[in-house]
Amino acid sequence: MDLEVSTDILMQDGDIVASTETQGQQSVSSTEMSFKAEPNDNEYAKAGPEPSRKLLGSPLKGGGLKRDTGMADWQPKSNQAIPRPPKFPPLPYASSQTGLVYDVRMRFHVETVSIEDDIHPEDPRRIHAIFESFVDAGLAWKKNTSGPSNDYYMGRIDARKVTKEEVCLVHTEEHWNWIQGLSAVPMEDLEELEQHPGTKMDSVYLSNMTPYCAALSAGGAIEACRAIMLGKVKNVFAVIRPPGHHAEREDAKGFCFFDNVSIATKVCQREFGERCRKILILDWDVHHGNGIQQANYDDPNVLYISLHLHERGRFYPEHSYRDRRGPYGDHLHCGDGAGLGRNVNIPWSKKGMGDADYVYAFQQVVMPIAIEFDPDLVIVAAGFDAAKGDMLGGCMVTPAGYAHMTHMLMSLAQGRVAVCLEGGYNLDSIARSATAVARTLMGEPPERLQELHPSITAVDDVKLVVRQQSRFWSSLYPKDISARLAGSLHGERMHDVVRRWQATTLWDEYEMSSLFVYKEQLSKSFENQVLATPNYTEARPLLVILHDPPEMIASPDPRTGKVELHNTWLTDIVKTYIDWAVKHDFAVIDVNLPTHVSDAEDNQIHQPEDSMEYRTREATQLLTYLWDNYIELNEATHVFLMGTNTGHGAIINFIKNNEERAQEQLTTAISFVKDVPLQSCRSATNDQFAQWYHASSLVFVEEDHNFFWLGDLTRKPKKRFGKVQKSPAGTISEMLIEHKEAVFNLLTAETADWRAARPHDEDEEMATARMPPVSNFAPSPRPGALPPLNPISMPPVGTFLSSNGTTARSLRGGSPLPPIGNFAPSPKPRSSRSPAR
Ligand SMILES: [Zn+2]
Repeated sequence: MDLEVSTDILMQDGDIVASTETQGQQSVSSTEMSFKAEPNDNEYAKAGPEPSRKLLGSPLKGGGLKRDTGMADWQPKSNQAIPRPPKFPPLPYASSQTGLVYDVRMRFHVETVSIEDDIHPEDPRRIHAIFESFVDAGLAWKKNTSGPSNDYYMGRIDARKVTKEEVCLVHTEEHWNWIQGLSAVPMEDLEELEQHPGTKMDSVYLSNMTPYCAALSAGGAIEACRAIMLGKVKNVFAVIRPPGHHAEREDAKGFCFFDNVSIATKVCQREFGERCRKILILDWDVHHGNGIQQANYDDPNVLYISLHLHERGRFYPEHSYRDRRGPYGDHLHCGDGAGLGRNVNIPWSKKGMGDADYVYAFQQVVMPIAIEFDPDLVIVAAGFDAAKGDMLGGCMVTPAGYAHMTHMLMSLAQGRVAVCLEGGYNLDSIARSATAVARTLMGEPPERLQELHPSITAVDDVKLVVRQQSRFWSSLYPKDISARLAGSLHGERMHDVVRRWQATTLWDEYEMSSLFVYKEQLSKSFENQVLATPNYTEARPLLVILHDPPEMIASPDPRTGKVELHNTWLTDIVKTYIDWAVKHDFAVIDVNLPTHVSDAEDNQIHQPEDSMEYRTREATQLLTYLWDNYIELNEATHVFLMGTNTGHGAIINFIKNNEERAQEQLTTAISFVKDVPLQSCRSATNDQFAQWYHASSLVFVEEDHNFFWLGDLTRKPKKRFGKVQKSPAGTISEMLIEHKEAVFNLLTAETADWRAARPHDEDEEMATARMPPVSNFAPSPRPGALPPLNPISMPPVGTFLSSNGTTARSLRGGSPLPPIGNFAPSPKPRSSRSPAR
């Protein structure tokens, strides 16, 4: 919108100012009277076309209503057959009108000092842009212009000032007084107040007209809802400002002063009693409506559903009510007391949500819940800042998207839908979006949607809400299992159980035990994270495997969805590699990279995976730690690093951060890459680095991996990506199976020199001593050989279980001692490299 318009902000459409001002004075009272004179809206349904006729003389503006559906004016031509009068009266809903609240005086709230190229987003032109768009679309009629071009337009409803009593249904008396006081504060003091807001306000600008406009805005919302409940209109669009959904009980916040929608809610509940007991407030503003949530949090009769950008608490409003509790627009805030389960937050974790995402949320959460709640009135807190083109929101909802949401909501509460404007700061976007909503309210079907596929993020976000809300709504499945686990069941996360079991097995079969790793955070997931064979310090090849947790495959019960242990398989292909390596006299260090680190204060049943970036960073730190404290100090003749997914990232990061050390000591880096980007090794200072990496690597990449589609398929991958091999296998496990021979061959070939140089008898001796049992039922123990006689296998000495080696030693009697991480290897000088390399 150009700046020319803004110079005339206050006095645009002067005719409307005049008409509103003059008519407004009278019609406030006449509205009150005429609406109150007809408290029973049931007669509406009985009387058929009656309400329309009545509206002709009603205070509705926009020329009142033109749709007199009677036949009185109809004159048949003489040679025509006289048509029969309609058998039934016109449909009450279809023939009744959509209301419009718009009052130009709400534009008087402006910044005291406006800087031309830094106009505040909550710009008075917002409501004007919407109104003009309605007029241009032929939906609203501007008085004293050309007159209505057809008989299809919105009936004007006058805004009025809200009363103190009404405001105090939601806000404190102090808040009311504070706002009223602003009209008398000198300009300089208002500026001063804006500069130093204290706790009373946040992100608002003030003017002497603020109390007036805020009062009209709230009064407009009230009259919009009353007009519906009184049967004056079927539904309504209130083009009001300043917005309201951030205003808290005692504070002005986020451009908002009075919580318009909540005030209208409470007024309607009070005035219409049982007929308007249950109200659904649907808030599609891109921001969370903290004010509405606070005002209705314990009210069982107000269902508040908000779809908003949350960014895990980083998007406005990040802070809580006055006491600044944590971000409260998350999916865990479900209401309190009698209102528990009547607060539904659908927080988007990322920007960029579009039509398909919103429609998906409506289909999966909003509509099932709303239908079950069965409201008497629907109020939409309609911000249009999730609209495509709004820079503040960064989302992509189109006018058609808003129309579809409106259309779905119109199936509720017998169509009683009051749309009240909240945010939305791109004048063009809000005008187009609001017009699409208004057209839908009037009966036009929504335009077809262009975007039909919800994003993965949206699906994840919505599923999280479904899980959370499933305990309150019988239409939502699957049910949350927290309640069961919170009781006496004492559940434990399976990945910790599995890793403990792995540790036990690896101890039983290969005497692998835990290496101490220093961590600041305590977690079960770090116990047994690093397991090593007892010979890992010796002069022999060392294979370090950094892998994801084993896969669990289940065939759930088709009806209940329950996962039963007997229908669940654990696939741990990594063990095949360990087994091969141990049999071929390698030392092995096995590193488990948990996809989620179990928290001691684990009160959330479902946890998403930790992010790939976070996991890779953690894995890199861990590998560096292992290298510094264990690998570099030992006598290993060859060092092989093998990593799957996150492990691949960690290996490359390590190599890049330790160019020299890696080139000196690392024999080969083996990677299996599927769900992560393929990393490359390049050095700004060393031209040979990429060459070296290519010669010292083997990289299996899933054939559907982006890498192959982004690059030029006709050419070989660049050397810095390593010796890349395309893998036809679909999962990491399948890749590990598919390529195990290739890896074994490589390990054999690379260590051939060492094998050849080794004295034969040592070889023999080692083979006997190290032979692991083939399976649980396998070899009868030989004297002096493994496994230990004690049939009950003891767990390896956990990292945190034992802080002193003697405890562990006595547990296993005379059997060989596993090295206990921190106490084990005495540092050795770095120079002792094997000549065999
Ligand atoms: Zn907003």
